[in-house]
Amino acid sequence: MNPLRAVKGMNDVLPDEIGRWQRIERAYARTMSLYGYREVRTPYVEQTGLFVRAIGETTDVVEKEMYSFVHHDEPLTLRPEGTAGTARAYIEHAVQAKEPLTRWWYAGPMFRGERPARGRYRQFHQLGAEVFGDEGPGCDAEMIDMLVGFLNELGVSGVEVIVNSIGAPSSKTLYRDALVNYLAPKAASLSPDSQRRLETNPLRILDSKDERDLAVVGGAPTIHDLLDAGDREHFEKLRALLDALGTPYEVDARLVRGLDYYTRTLFEIKGAHEKLGAGSTLVGGGRYDGMVADLGGPRVPAIGFAAGLERLLIASDVDSPDGGVDALVAPLGPNAISTALVLARDLRRNRIRCEVDTRGASLKRQLRRANALGARVVLILGDSELAEGVVQVKDLEAHTEERLPRDQAVRVAVDRLVAASRGVESRPPRLAEEPR
Ligand code: AMP
Repeated sequence: MNPLRAVKGMNDVLPDEIGRWQRIERAYARTMSLYGYREVRTPYVEQTGLFVRAIGETTDVVEKEMYSFVHHDEPLTLRPEGTAGTARAYIEHAVQAKEPLTRWWYAGPMFRGERPARGRYRQFHQLGAEVFGDEGPGCDAEMIDMLVGFLNELGVSGVEVIVNSIGAPSSKTLYRDALVNYLAPKAASLSPDSQRRLETNPLRILDSKDERDLAVVGGAPTIHDLLDAGDREHFEKLRALLDALGTPYEVDARLVRGLDYYTRTLFEIKGAHEKLGAGSTLVGGGRYDGMVADLGGPRVPAIGFAAGLERLLIASDVDSPDGGVDALVAPLGPNAISTALVLARDLRRNRIRCEVDTRGASLKRQLRRANALGARVVLILGDSELAEGVVQVKDLEAHTEERLPRDQAVRVAVDRLVAASRGVESRPPRLAEEPR
């Protein structure tokens, strides 16, 4: 029998790695709350039709990458991205009737059947957000600037913002025609995939990385030639606001991005290529002013983005927090276990992270475990301590040992650990973080 393995492109995150994930997730939640966003959690599974309508039938995601299945006659799909489900929830709960402006964020796994590579997985995680009810460009500029600040906080190097406007759906249609007119006579030089896209979704040819396509696309008209006055003004204002905020960016008139729903503002943020390789795009986002109405909701303009958490982990220099415990309670034999459990509970009530070794191991093995866990203080309960109603408190860093009555032992252990966590010594805080 083959050994059981995780599904290709879907990864375990083991406890040694989880600290970095949580640091980034917490930094993101903090940023979001500073900007007035509230968290939303939508299901991982939605009706397949939602993604087909929202993302577009001829996109790569819908054509080739969705994990779809039929369950009791209902076509369902593991969500490949977060915007469609979020927009569905916004409509379903008639949020627009309750508030004119909505800022929501989310974090969680997404599923796409792509070819796995570094920074590209089949289950990956996105940190995303959506703003409903503001047609920009003020909130577009704020969003981009916020993301640059967030990436800086994570220590991501080589941050590069690329913006574009692809106009309203009417400009997109005009551009589509202009592009087809330009590309059709050169179709034979395009890659087979792009020859097919010429019929189905010509804008996607601009996204192609195939050398044959790049050579042809170089001289193609850009959508900027076809933007109407409103689109143009929107884009100019966005640029002026980014300038005013001091957020560096570049304009790439050929940036179109993979999902069909975008209108007007589009952006991508990249990190240093050396670290990220082909997966250097950390964040993708844009405006989708038509989607809410297209899905049967009110006419509400919207903008959103998603950042790939695995890519942020590659690009960021946040380090792993200390994941052990502060104290170990060491009962030496079965008679001491009940007292040990009570002592440990008292320590935890004082917010001290602690473990009790209930295996009945020798003192030597328990001290070894204390070291492995990074515990500074060990509370030892042998037969003589039990008989006298005391505890031996061993401080492994100060190299001290005291025999103290039980309630005092807890107090002394807490005091030692709190003093250490206040930077009395040059070591990172050991106490668990306060819950927010
Ligand atoms: P998208 O939803 O395609 O606009 O992607 C937004 C961001 O999600 C990208 O910039 C990546 O950081 C991340 N991302 C997208 N697809 C994957 C994937 N297959 N594996 C890992 N990260 C991904």
